[in-house]
Amino acid sequence: MPQEFRRDGAIATLTAYIGAGRLTGKSQEIAQDLVTASTTRRGGLSDAQWGLVERLIKQVEAPAAQSPAGPEPEDLGSRFGGVFELFEQAVQNGIKHPKIRLATGDGQALMFVRAGSGSRYSGQIMITDGGRYPNNRYFGRIDDAGRFVGGRDLTPSVASYLRAFNANPADLARVYGQKTGQCAFCGLELKDGRSIHHGYGPICADRWGLPYGDVPDGEEVFDQADLFAQ
Ligand SMILES: [Zn+2]
Repeated sequence: MPQEFRRDGAIATLTAYIGAGRLTGKSQEIAQDLVTASTTRRGGLSDAQWGLVERLIKQVEAPAAQSPAGPEPEDLGSRFGGVFELFEQAVQNGIKHPKIRLATGDGQALMFVRAGSGSRYSGQIMITDGGRYPNNRYFGRIDDAGRFVGGRDLTPSVASYLRAFNANPADLARVYGQKTGQCAFCGLELKDGRSIHHGYGPICADRWGLPYGDVPDGEEVFDQADLFAQ
């Protein structure tokens, strides 16, 4: 959370920064004029001038935030190579437009789509709610270095779900499949016992490189109560 700007003491701070040589060139000139105006202008500084004071102080205190590239989107600081590799595998196995649909525990739908060659994010994994642009929610993207870059609609709940999915894609896809009865990868209804047990079908398991084995002995193949307790 950025600290709210306080006018009390701001001129003294600005004066100190000028004295310490923390502002240079045009910034120093503007700062000096503002300090002068604060004592000579009737009624004190205007709101626009206070805006300049705030910007100059922030420029000294947080030089990174003033970088010409503008503010960087939130970076979870985690590597999301697991999800990126998953999509690479799918492409290598012949899926042209790989997609994964999931939902967080509190019901937020998530759609992972690998951006096509026409996109400026070509090859990156875009994460939205699956709605149509521009009426969709955009949670972020995974770039080709496996780095997650948060989007405008990222919430803490989605962020923690993404971390969990990256750590163990097969497990979360299984939970989704069992809850919804749909394969997270192709969207088709899960019909036979083994698919329901795994939460995705054998073809998707093969193409996405996910485990697909026998249902362990003694385990119920489909038990509603268990599924919804997850
Ligand atoms: Zn499938």
